[in-house]
Amino acid sequence: MLISNDDVRRGIENDEFVPFFQPLVTLRTGELAGFEVLARWHHPTAGVLSPDRFIPIAEQNGWIDALTKRLMQKAFEAGKLIPEPLTLAFNVSPLQLHDLDLPKRIQSAAEDLGFPLQRIVIEVTESAVVDNVERAQTISNELKALGCKIALDDFGTGYSSLLHLQSLPFDELKVDRSFVGSMIQRRESRKIVAAVVGLGQSLGLTTVAEGIETREQAEMLLWLGCELGQGWLFGRPIPAEDLPTTVEMPREKISFNHSPGLWGGLA
Ligand code: C2E
Ligand code: MG
Ligand code: MG
Ligand code: MG
Repeated sequence: MLISNDDVRRGIENDEFVPFFQPLVTLRTGELAGFEVLARWHHPTAGVLSPDRFIPIAEQNGWIDALTKRLMQKAFEAGKLIPEPLTLAFNVSPLQLHDLDLPKRIQSAAEDLGFPLQRIVIEVTESAVVDNVERAQTISNELKALGCKIALDDFGTGYSSLLHLQSLPFDELKVDRSFVGSMIQRRESRKIVAAVVGLGQSLGLTTVAEGIETREQAEMLLWLGCELGQGWLFGRPIPAEDLPTTVEMPREKISFNHSPGLWGGLA
């Protein structure tokens, strides 16, 4: 089904967009560390739609702020189901990182609904940093002053990644899932992940791997020193009503059942 601009506008007017929540876990202990908020559209006829179907349309038509605001409100409302010290991570669009009002808007949404700013992570992709570095710096510094953390999302897939790494005050580095997905099969991917995790560590950043689908990937990432993990192995994105059971679910500890030798370490 082809989505038109009018469909998205109607969806926003009818408040059909909801946050889903995907678990992030501490690889070493298996403990839940927080959730990433991922937008979903409860479309009246097409079912639940993914962000790639509507985020670009919302961006192009200037509706992304309204959409983000509503998602944040709903996520902060559900935040009552997310105990301390678990975090909530939000994705912001490149355009929003150029909007000087962004920090104030996040602050008022969080304060209105009583979610602590210290437990908020803002995920930005590399393209967000490109056109106006100074403004992105101003906004990032304000977000940090409020207590929020900042993550560089999908690291390794944009351009001039390394340049952007030094331009903003990042707290976290998220390794793109394309590398994680192929790291067991491909020696090159494995080496890239190892290098990215090492880079993050040497810059003092929390390293996060996304798209972990197998135990073997989790074990290898842990062995490489990656701190946090996210992926279907630990849990798919879920609606707010499933948060209580997910928060209470015991998680399996990842241990070195396989010695690195089985997959050859980094060789
Ligand atoms: P992202 O921020 O990199 O989010 C991770 C994506 O990987 C999500 O896709 C998630 O469902 C998917 N994923 C997580 N674990 C696995 C796994 O083990 N295997 C596989 N195959 N996929 C996994 P999703 O939800 O379709 O979101 C796609 C992108 O849309 C996000 O990528 C993010 O850039 C963007 N997005 C999502 N929600 C929002 C939003 O509220 N605002 C903005 N501006 N962008 C959003
Ligand atoms: Mg993200
Ligand atoms: Mg990502
Ligand atoms: Mg991604």
